[in-house]
Amino acid sequence: MKFRHVILATVVGLLPVSFWAGGEQIVLRPSSSPTSSPARHAAEPGGTARPAPDAPAAEGDSVVRKSNQASKRGCGSAAWLRGKVHLCNLFVYDRHSRWSDEERRSVVQRMDDAVRFLVGEAARYRVEVAFSQETLADAACEQTIPTDMFAPPNWIGDAVRRLGYDSVNDLVRSVRQRTGCQEVALLVHVNKRATSYNLTFSDGIHGDFHAERAVMFSRYRDGRPTCAGSYAHEILHNFGAGELYFPFDTDTRRKTLAASMFPDDVMCRVDYNLRRISVGEYTAYRVGWIDRLDPRHKVFED
Ligand SMILES: [Zn+2]
Repeated sequence: MKFRHVILATVVGLLPVSFWAGGEQIVLRPSSSPTSSPARHAAEPGGTARPAPDAPAAEGDSVVRKSNQASKRGCGSAAWLRGKVHLCNLFVYDRHSRWSDEERRSVVQRMDDAVRFLVGEAARYRVEVAFSQETLADAACEQTIPTDMFAPPNWIGDAVRRLGYDSVNDLVRSVRQRTGCQEVALLVHVNKRATSYNLTFSDGIHGDFHAERAVMFSRYRDGRPTCAGSYAHEILHNFGAGELYFPFDTDTRRKTLAASMFPDDVMCRVDYNLRRISVGEYTAYRVGWIDRLDPRHKVFED
């Protein structure tokens, strides 16, 4: 598989992105776990998984919806996780947070590990994914970058405009033209402690959000570094995967069922050891590695 490395603009301390990520895993645990941290999203080892603002209606307007809606499959700028896939890494900072070279290298390494994990998992389904990554120029945020996933996400558009694009959609258009990759996702990296989340396109979402993006914080709220599995988890969301711990359900029926069917699925849980996690058949269906939904998994579709 071919991995390309492209560096776009350069500002201060731009880090080359390395490629190839190898296969590994992630874990999400229920908030009731005695070892759980106060983490809110799905991608923390031992952390609580809570809904992410998957469905903002427009910039400045976050609307929380069910986490697993079927209409996320096969749409947006990151529709299918197969063939040529391009990931744009954008390191943002504000007056309270900066990136050192070492911190940035660490994130690049975790991204590489996540990509390698996904390539390995895709191969189990006989699907080839050729990832390329690039690091955009750093972008300053005038406002304080919010760590609350429910805060209005307009700061992302502001950061991208500072790089000369009209919008995140415009950035994706430009990347598609330049790289020839149709499948494009933006990873916005923030050097703060918080729960990472994603903005995934689906039916009823404002067109401004066609360009799919994830906001990756370098550390969990408790200070532990965000594991490579969490990066893989969020990338999978952008390609249509849903939560398998069902944070919106009023009972634990589906969560229990998913945990019994896919105990190591990266959308169920994350782990610092990628060998302990995997991409199960239902998640594989959602990202386009399997064409048909197994009737036994229909229960997971909202
Ligand atoms: Zn999640």
